[in-house]
Amino acid sequence: MKNAAIAETEAILEFPMLLSPIQLGPLELQSRVVMGAMHTRLETQPNALEREIAFYRSRAEGGVGLIISGGISPSEDGVFEPGALATSHLDHAYQKELTTAVRDAGSPFIAQLLHAGRYAKIPELVAPSPIAAPINKRTPRGLTSSEVESLVDGFAMAAETTLECGYDGVEIMGSEGYLINQFLASRSNQRDDAWGGDWTRRKRFAVEIVRAVKRITGDNKLLSFRISALELVEHGMTQVEILDLAHDLQAAGIDVFNTGIGWHESRIPTVAQVTPRGAFADAIIQLKQAVQVPVMASNRINTPELAEEILASSAADLVSLCRPLLADADFVRKTAQGRGAQVVPCVACNQACLDRIFVAQAPSCIVNPRAAREIDFSAAKTTASKTVAVVGGGAAGLTAAIEAAANGHDVTLYEASSSLGGLLNLASQIPGKGEFETLLSSMKARAAAAGVNVKLNTRATVDLVSGYDHVIIATGVRPRLPAIDGINHSTVVTYEDILSRRRTAGQRVAIIGAGGIGFDAAEFLVDAHARFSDIATFRAHYGLSTDPKAQGGIDNTATPHLQNDHDITLMQRSGGRMGRTLSITTSWIKRDTLNRAGVRMLDGVDYRKINDDGVHITRAGETQVIAADTVILCAGQSPERGLVDALTLAGVEHEIIGGAEKAAELDAMRAIEQGVRAALAI
Ligand code: NAP
Ligand code: SF4
Repeated sequence: MKNAAIAETEAILEFPMLLSPIQLGPLELQSRVVMGAMHTRLETQPNALEREIAFYRSRAEGGVGLIISGGISPSEDGVFEPGALATSHLDHAYQKELTTAVRDAGSPFIAQLLHAGRYAKIPELVAPSPIAAPINKRTPRGLTSSEVESLVDGFAMAAETTLECGYDGVEIMGSEGYLINQFLASRSNQRDDAWGGDWTRRKRFAVEIVRAVKRITGDNKLLSFRISALELVEHGMTQVEILDLAHDLQAAGIDVFNTGIGWHESRIPTVAQVTPRGAFADAIIQLKQAVQVPVMASNRINTPELAEEILASSAADLVSLCRPLLADADFVRKTAQGRGAQVVPCVACNQACLDRIFVAQAPSCIVNPRAAREIDFSAAKTTASKTVAVVGGGAAGLTAAIEAAANGHDVTLYEASSSLGGLLNLASQIPGKGEFETLLSSMKARAAAAGVNVKLNTRATVDLVSGYDHVIIATGVRPRLPAIDGINHSTVVTYEDILSRRRTAGQRVAIIGAGGIGFDAAEFLVDAHARFSDIATFRAHYGLSTDPKAQGGIDNTATPHLQNDHDITLMQRSGGRMGRTLSITTSWIKRDTLNRAGVRMLDGVDYRKINDDGVHITRAGETQVIAADTVILCAGQSPERGLVDALTLAGVEHEIIGGAEKAAELDAMRAIEQGVRAALAI
């Protein structure tokens, strides 16, 4: 998309900054939205080039102003993992085809140079000092002084290689705790040579690399540096040091600063749902005020409105988005066309992107199953429009209806309750999960735009749906009632009762089931006082400092902000660590929250009975009574299939998707993907 050209006047008035061009070094960008570097593993998949081209082209056509490639290592020992890209083994023909395709689609494309240092998941990893990262069980070898010097040249040669491959410039990755960042912080740099010891020597590696790379990029290619604007680790850089570094890097020839927040090993959430939008804006503003070159803001910017607000307040000149562009390749295009309400928002769950990266899978997105799998989904519209009934307005049904209508079918969506959304409505009640409400708003806007005929308060029957050409059943799930003696006791409620606020929990609460919903219910009760409702509370809870000399920007004396009015016991029958089925990258935050709030977590529980005293259990051979005036059932789900049985009996053909098809391991990811696939299969 040549976005400025098709932007509608009203959209420009509403988003004057976001949709305005900007000159970055030698490049003129069409919009202020930059697609930040993402590790996609697409290069390792079958039909890799076709996949990469489809992935990047769709974002370029969607109107982003600049695309940054996934990290490419300047040396073999700096790759993330075996098989990851290093400039020494780049396939030039492949890269040239890719860079040409992206540029032809309307966006400049630069290569990110990233040395993983002690984060590398390879046997021969290196770092400034032989100190293992808490998130990597391998201990790195400390680089010798001459190896460090060679590596500076290595970055310059890597830049040269990527420019030969057709990239429009490079970004040097200096944040998130990767090698350059490791040199900058005393936490990981305990050298005593020309490359470590005091601040002047710790920053030398970064500055020398920029000088060397600038000699390659000159004035004709873009040079970006991703700087750690806030470290969020003990013995990380202070803000004074960060600004001093920025000053030196600017003098060394940087055209633009991209920003990173926190190291990957930080114990403060930086991109999870509990992180309020704009939580780290202060750090970006300080940087912006200290330098003359443009600055990109990043982290938790997932709507055009928020992006515009950041730009309009002069907190930054550009916004760098990663996950939001997985969620919607057309983020800018929709905004420019006055369809901003239809942008599919990233809900910051990490479930299909970062979690998959951590388990060596290819990422996608729970709200956009096409992400990074573009070629696996047909883009052709139907030539044979059908009448379609979709029953159930939760994530699966709503998605199927939107997609089918957008694909040219005549769709009616029946929902028995008075509102759309199903379990998304309950999920959005969980502290930190308000983004599900944003998702639901976007779905409603897309349903309206696609022309879905929504019938609320309408329980579908065989008669109602039997006249349609195609019927999709997405009636969802109901809470499972486990076979425990006393399950009908007056103290027993379901998670639906609590999360919908139909019932209020008493002071002593026992939760049966510690899967995603059990944890959610506990957090809901702990957070009844809206712990993270604002940035100030979040910052106070996690001990963010305002002192510019605080190492890592952390105040170690801060006390957590948690107000728990309940005495909560969370239980599961299986043994082992609680919450192990939850998101790899965010379950630690949930466990940490519940631990700090004093929630008891019991595994290996055998439920015996429920009565006035509470829940009687045996555990490790001992009988205990978990005193409770409220027992919340979070023991999984059963499919809601009343209509399915009736349709089958009446011989009406239908397709079942979402929880109605299979309740176990139901989540938004499966529901949404099944909805898309069901619609495309009509
Ligand atoms: P779930 O994750 O499968 O958890 C069900 C829990 O109930 C487990 O702790 C299970 O543990 C227990 N349980 C199962 N059968 C039981 C029985 N007959 N009696 C007593 N306890 C029983 O399901 P969910 O919590 O309902 O969540 C539904 C889906 O949504 C899951 O796929 C989940 O991953 C997803 N979700 C994810 C999140 C997230 O934050 N990532 C949040 C909410 C939901 P034991 O069998 O060991 O007792
Ligand atoms: Fe965002 Fe979740 Fe999609 Fe990742 S999977 S991009 S966090 S919505």
